[in-house]
Formats: sequence, structure tokens, C-alpha cells
Amino acid sequence: MDTIYLDNNATTQVDPAVFEAIKPYFTELYGNPSSMHRFGGQVGATLKQARASVASLLGCEPEEIIFTSCGSESDNTAIRSALNARPDRRHIVTTAVEHPAILSLCKYLEKKDGYEVTYLGTDEYGRLDLEEYKTALRPDTAIVSVMWANNETGNIYPIEEMAQIAKEHDVIFHTDAVQAVGKVDIDLSRVPVDMLSLSGHKLHAPKGVGALFVRKRLPFRPFLIGGHQERSRRAGTENTTGIIALGKACELAREHMAEENTEVKRLRDKLEKGLLAAIPDSKLNGDPEHRLPNTANISFGYVEGEAILLMMDQLGIAASSGSACTSGSLEPSHVLRAMGVPFTFAHGSIRFSLSRFNTEKEIDFVVETLPPIIANLRKLSPFSADKQAPACTKSFSE
Ligand SMILES: *Cc1c(COP(=O)(O)O)cnc(C)c1O
Repeated sequence: MDTIYLDNNATTQVDPAVFEAIKPYFTELYGNPSSMHRFGGQVGATLKQARASVASLLGCEPEEIIFTSCGSESDNTAIRSALNARPDRRHIVTTAVEHPAILSLCKYLEKKDGYEVTYLGTDEYGRLDLEEYKTALRPDTAIVSVMWANNETGNIYPIEEMAQIAKEHDVIFHTDAVQAVGKVDIDLSRVPVDMLSLSGHKLHAPKGVGALFVRKRLPFRPFLIGGHQERSRRAGTENTTGIIALGKACELAREHMAEENTEVKRLRDKLEKGLLAAIPDSKLNGDPEHRLPNTANISFGYVEGEAILLMMDQLGIAASSGSACTSGSLEPSHVLRAMGVPFTFAHGSIRFSLSRFNTEKEIDFVVETLPPIIANLRKLSPFSADKQAPACTKSFSE
């Protein structure tokens, strides 16, 4: 057995069919879609198709899709647009468990630009409190940004309900759906979100392409200003190969959605149950019910996550851990901290994230090999709540 990739929330492998679809656009079909001649025309037609494929996965109009360079750009564009469209409003509502693409931006806006930000907390399962949310909305709230699904725990948030509440309060609602697109059903013809971010490399397209859904008639202020690409909403010559890849990946995601929710979930559950049963002092992090079908975040108490990762890596198993060293001090992931996971458990947390490319054999191998690894690590360097935990350097690859 060579490698077992269980880090699909960090990035995914490009689907071979996606790679095939974009090959000609690296060679003979190199035109600029804005050009009047045939080189441009051919590419322009395929871009149009790609836009339709993305829209069709989301249940929106093709004109409501703006292609970007990544999920982070989509997130930044959404927040900045809302703030610039309503300059009199100086308040933002988000959550304590967002991806850094939202969280770091909000911290920046607070510090440098004087905005006020409310960070909604979670309970021990990482769930939000809708009453706390309702109370947080104010007449001067410019935007609410809540992720559809969490990259570390896989928690799925009640976006439909939260978007409806924002609408009733006349507040723009954005969702970072980077982890949700392709894994859960999204129908924007029904769910009243105003803006939605997605990223190609989280759903088997390459890195360097993303999209932002912006609902028709929503006041929008571009982030990149220049040429008239994307109907003057995002300047820059189109990343043709990336966009065509994203279109193809969205088509495939539609086809594979049912499989994601049955077969991938079955393997994830097998992995999760197997590990929790075989390893004492292990615990699931996240919402056992409303969770992505591919994600299992498990804490192995009294052992360092980084050590587990290194041992797994030697066997060719790739996953992520939930502790990080920021400025030399030991800090577990902000998501696990928001959930109040005790330090001794947060440090030994591992995120396993599957895809449709994983096999039963791989899962069986992990369930078999991990318990002795944990047992050995605990024997070698046991540390408990009152001893100091060893230093670490790695965090979740987001
Ligand atoms: C990966 C990720 C992002 C960032 O996407 P990039 O394309 O890597 O910029 C944003 N939000 C979530 C929830 C993610 O998982």
C-alpha cells in the first residue's frame, strides 16, 4: 500500500476527468476570451458553459457567478463589497469558528479600520446559538458572514434559517461554503443568502480558482478594479484553465453527491467508530448529527497530535492535527478552543477528511494501525493535564 490521503479538507486531488477537460486549453486553445477572433471565441464559449455548470450546482443564474482566484479572495471580496456598499454601517457579525480568510480579515477590519465585529460563540459540539445570533444583529450591521460547513469539525450550520433572519433585519448575508459545495445540497433558489464563496481545489479542481455568488440586484463593489471581465465585477484576464476545471468539477460533484452522502459517509463512519472503539480516552469533536459526510475530528487524549501525524506519515497516511504554535506559545486550533475542548484533548486532535477516491481497504488499514501507534506514543511520552505539553509547530492545513 502506498499513500492514504485523508486530508481532503486541506485540498483534494484533481479528478482525472477534470485534468482531461482542461488539457487542450494549455496547448492549442490558449486564446483570451475577450478577443474578437476565433482564438478568443472558442475559449469564451467554454467559459460560458463552465459558468452554467457552477450555477447549476448551486441553483442560481450563471450571471450571478463571479470567478475569482480562490476561496480567500471570494471571502474578502464579499465582506469588502458589503462594507463599501453600506458605508454608514460599521458592524459585522460572524462566528468564532470561521476560516482565517474571514476571521483574520475581520480582526484586521477591527484593528485598522475601526469596525465593530461580533464573534458568535459555540457550545461544546461547535453549534451556534440562534438566540445569540438574533440579539447580535443591529441597525448598523453591514453584513453577516457564517460558514456553511466548518473545515475542522465538518459541522454544518443552519444557513437557511440564519439567512432568513438576516433578510428580515435587512442585513446582507454571506456564507463561506468552501467546504459545503460538492458535499451537501445547496439550492440558492430557495435559500436567501446574498453571497456565497467556493473554492476549486476543495472539490477536485486545481488550486488557484474560486467563485463568488452574488445575488442579482445586490449592490456590489468590486475588489479588483481594471478591465471589464466578469461584467466589470472582477478585473483580470480569466484563468481559463482554472475556470473550465471548476465547471467540470461542479458537474462531477453533482453526479457524485449521492455517493458522497452514502459511500463516503459509510467509510467515514467506519473509521470513526473503529478508532473510538479501539482507543481509550478518544472523543469525537463536532456535531454528531449535522456534519459533513466526509469529516471526522477525533481527539486522542494525553498525546501530541503532531507526533501522531509523524507516525502516520511514516505509514503513508496523511491527515491534519489541531494544535498550532503561534508566537512560540502552545495554542490549539481556534475552533476547538471556541468549543472549550480541554487542552490535553485539543492537542491530540486529528482531522480525517475523506473523498470519493478513498477505499475500504485504506480505512481498514488505518483502523488497524492507528491504535498501537497511540498506545506506543502514550507509553513513550505520557503527559497529563498537570504536566506541560510538548511544543508543537504544525497546525491544520486549512
Ligand atoms: C480552504 C478554505 C478556504 C480558503 O480557500 P482557498 O481557495 O484556499 O483560499 C476558505 N474557507 C474554508 C472553510 C476553507 O476550507
